[in-house]
Amino acid sequence: MTAPARYYDGVTAQVTDAIAKWGIGELLIYRPDDFAIVARWRLEDIVVLGDTEHEAIPAISVAGSDARLIVVDPELRAELARVAYLSALTAPKPAAARRVMKLGAALVVLVAAFWGIVDYGSEYAAPLVPYRLQAKLGREVRGELTTGRTLCTGAGGLAAINGLANRLARTGELSHPVQVTVVKGGPVNAFTLPGGYLVFYSQLIDEAKDGEEVAGVLAHEIGHAVHGHPMKGMTRQFGVNLLLNLLTGGYSELGTLGSGGGLLLALRNGRAFEREADATGIRLLEKRGLRADGMSRFFGELMKHEPSDPALSLGIWSDHPPTAERIAATKRPPSGQPDFTDQEWKALRAVCKD
Ligand SMILES: [Zn+2]
Repeated sequence: MTAPARYYDGVTAQVTDAIAKWGIGELLIYRPDDFAIVARWRLEDIVVLGDTEHEAIPAISVAGSDARLIVVDPELRAELARVAYLSALTAPKPAAARRVMKLGAALVVLVAAFWGIVDYGSEYAAPLVPYRLQAKLGREVRGELTTGRTLCTGAGGLAAINGLANRLARTGELSHPVQVTVVKGGPVNAFTLPGGYLVFYSQLIDEAKDGEEVAGVLAHEIGHAVHGHPMKGMTRQFGVNLLLNLLTGGYSELGTLGSGGGLLLALRNGRAFEREADATGIRLLEKRGLRADGMSRFFGELMKHEPSDPALSLGIWSDHPPTAERIAATKRPPSGQPDFTDQEWKALRAVCKD
């Protein structure tokens, strides 16, 4: 059987039979016989060599290397080309054939791929946004949002909330760990940032009646992370400029955007995202056999005192406070294991007292 692809390492004359598959933000190239990985190419470094003069099939290469991958199998080629970034792989031969797409042009195509993700919400392409970039952006935004605020450092409380957050994230098959930061004080709110960074305000923990209510909000936020909502929101708000800054490693504009409330606006989730996060949060809790009655109860409490502060209408509030419909849709009986042990809940309550 012919291998789906041929890999040339660019150093020796050796040709390796290969298969290629998308990983998180990278292309994995491995041998079909023993699945040994022969190369991992970062998405943002991949270039399509568009010269079809000598090759019927355009080769894929990676910046800073002479390695080549020739995808012989049309099905695999189509699969790889589903990422807009590599669409040239299956594009009909242009009349005036482009010679070689250099990195600069490839970046523009990558931006187009990001827009594709945002505009069409492609479930397939969303995980391809390089995690490294998402995490860097998430940390930047967290820095902006928490400037001048006290971060709570209670080790037991942070371990409790981070432990549950990561168990839920794994159940949701999130490919990377999440990190919860607790900011001292109000408002009663929480955010999820790109790269799996969550921000909780301690007033939310103080006003919750029990651990299940905090866990309900936490599960909802993990739902946002699982669906990649924060990255989609940031892209909508900041568009191509931010992405270009991201790709070139510059963040000078982020502070300026943040000061105008832009960051908060970017983190606002629409109704569809909220429903999706609610449903996923409940599913993750139930899948782990945990109590899932806290979310609806907490939303019910929130609805009783609607916010007047516009800052409150973001984050868990989104652009609308929880509606009766959302409260009804997430209502669950108090069955299952407790979300936090008594000891964990006690520690979480005291997370800002250290
Ligand atoms: Zn939300």
